[in-house]
Amino acid sequence: MIPPDVLDLRARIRTIPDYPKPGVQFRDITTLLGDARAFRRAVDELVQPWAGAKIDKVAGIEARGFILGGAVAHQVSAGFVPIRKKGKLPHETVRIAYSLEYGIDEMEMHKDAVQTGERVVLVDDLIATGGTAEGAVKLLKNMGADVLAAVFIVDLPDLGGADKIRKLGVPVRTLVSFEGH
Ligand code: AMP
Repeated sequence: MIPPDVLDLRARIRTIPDYPKPGVQFRDITTLLGDARAFRRAVDELVQPWAGAKIDKVAGIEARGFILGGAVAHQVSAGFVPIRKKGKLPHETVRIAYSLEYGIDEMEMHKDAVQTGERVVLVDDLIATGGTAEGAVKLLKNMGADVLAAVFIVDLPDLGGADKIRKLGVPVRTLVSFEGH
């Protein structure tokens, strides 16, 4: 195993100031994804507490959650469930409104993507206010899923998202954190 001091995941994340709008520090994980060892390590670390646990499905949130979620699903030998912005999935869907920093949007998943009682881990790249992940957790729970955990590479703790998800009774795992927005 590569010692954490040699492979610092935080240092593999690029920060773009004032993107997509002034005041936002965009935490760009494409630099981490482009580094083979960092990508592998992030995937391994995300699900490390559940090593050996039975995971039926990994749900990924569009779009960066698809890249990570697909890799995590392969790693734990689980199926993958895409959670998408409304209107993108071709078959019958279930939909939920969720809050964004300004306003609301809707996300959906296929009705038959998760069976009652299935053990699901939710994956996205970053948790900020937690509105997106909260919507996804509720959607999965509404379909009868047992949401084992929600995992993210990046936490922005000042925005309180991880606490919001823990209050829903879902353990949260994050690998690196940054102050502010
Ligand atoms: P939130 O619903 O506020 O927790 O926002 C989380 C979603 O917005 C994730 O899918 C992130 O990819 C994206 N996001 C929010 N803030 C940032 C940021 N500072 N840098 C990169 N992505 C972000």
